[in-house]
Amino acid sequence: MSEERVLIAGAGPVGLVAAAHLARAGVPVTVFEQGPKLSEESRASTFHPPTLDMLHALGAAEPLIAQGLVCPTFQYRTKKHGLTAEFNFSAIADATSHPYRVQCEQSKLTRILYEQMRGHPNFELQFDSPVKAVSQTASGVEITIERNGKPETRSGRYLIGADGASSAVRRSLGIEFEGFTWPDRLLVISTPFDFFGVIPGLSSVSYVADPERWYFLLRVPGLWRAMFLVNEDASDERVQTPEFAQSLMAGVIPGISNYEISHMTLYKVHQRVAKTFQLGRAFLIGDAAHINNPLGGMGMNGGIHDAVNLAERLAKVWRGEAGETELERFDKQRRLVTLEAIQKTTIQNKKNLESPGDEFRQSLQAIAADPARTREYLMRVSMIASLQRAAELG
Ligand SMILES: Cc1cc2nc3c(=O)[nH]c(=O)nc-3n(C[C@H](O)[C@H](O)[C@H](O)COP(=O)(O)OP(=O)(O)OC[C@H]3O[C@@H](n4cnc5c(N)ncnc54)[C@H](O)[C@@H]3O)c2cc1C
Repeated sequence: MSEERVLIAGAGPVGLVAAAHLARAGVPVTVFEQGPKLSEESRASTFHPPTLDMLHALGAAEPLIAQGLVCPTFQYRTKKHGLTAEFNFSAIADATSHPYRVQCEQSKLTRILYEQMRGHPNFELQFDSPVKAVSQTASGVEITIERNGKPETRSGRYLIGADGASSAVRRSLGIEFEGFTWPDRLLVISTPFDFFGVIPGLSSVSYVADPERWYFLLRVPGLWRAMFLVNEDASDERVQTPEFAQSLMAGVIPGISNYEISHMTLYKVHQRVAKTFQLGRAFLIGDAAHINNPLGGMGMNGGIHDAVNLAERLAKVWRGEAGETELERFDKQRRLVTLEAIQKTTIQNKKNLESPGDEFRQSLQAIAADPARTREYLMRVSMIASLQRAAELG
């Protein structure tokens, strides 16, 4: 007999958005997190307009905005020509209540959600509880978690795998993670250096194209994050030395070197999508379902869009307002837009930045000069278009 709960593996931003949404809609949830506390890892820092609209519905947008930076504009530059085009989300202010990106570390969102939800009668989070295996019956799911080195089982009506890129839920369900891993690695270097003081007219979000060494600069409270793709043969150890980081940073502004470096992290870069986002009563959302390069800031945002899409449907089914077939629409909508929008856009963004730049520059300038094309472009990069497309799929 299944316990009457939804089980969620993973207390990252995506798992906690799903949990908060469900608990508030009257659905009891238990989140199992493998770590002893919420992750402090600094990865996503961009929240797009429709994601902020969704977080607003959970009461989480305002505290996030208070801790982050509101960025209405973003820019493209080329190393050769400097500023190429600047876009302002005010052009789509009729399509969102938040016509800007918010730059804020994802770990701030997880803390906001956890603080808001702890004590809620429908919400439970268990730390030090890695999910190891999953099995299903016609009426429920059973998971094996490890507690104090020993296996224990838990049962529920549904399971959501929000346990990140290496998802144990996805593996246990035997769902293929189709796609590829780029040979390049991504080095993220954080510095308190004041780029505003030395780059005239710089926006808090700037992508700089260059066939030799493109990069992008993102501002978060108190720091800039400079992200470089590293494609040389150098070992991971060598790439993470201060000397290597300084050599990359020295290419940003001629004549400026010896930056203060607060931290740096090296990441592998993948483009992968799970073969299905649903298997019976188990679902995959966020990085468990799809991963992509961070150009455009779409991974966590897309994951939060998955979480809201699924939670809305599960709540309807739970309350008896819709049949189980309602849940099939989650996979149908979210998997297709992940392939069509998120994967395609992030791969194209990478190609654009590493291209010689002239064609890319002309195309951006043509978009920026035409209000209708600017609007269409901003709907796409803000991810509003992908949500509209998902809704059209029915
Ligand atoms: C450098 C970088 C920059 C990025 N920038 C952006 C950006 O600006 N915007 C954006 O949208 N995306 C960005 N991303 C992607 C973003 O970080 C991820 O898409 C996001 O973290 C996915 O959230 P998630 O909750 O699905 O997974 P995760 O954040 O990975 O969380 C998964 C959670 O599950 C837990 N867990 C793992 N295994 C188990 C298990 N077996 N049992 C229980 N718990 C488990 C983990 O401990 C973790 O707490 C960036 C990524 C990188 C590397």
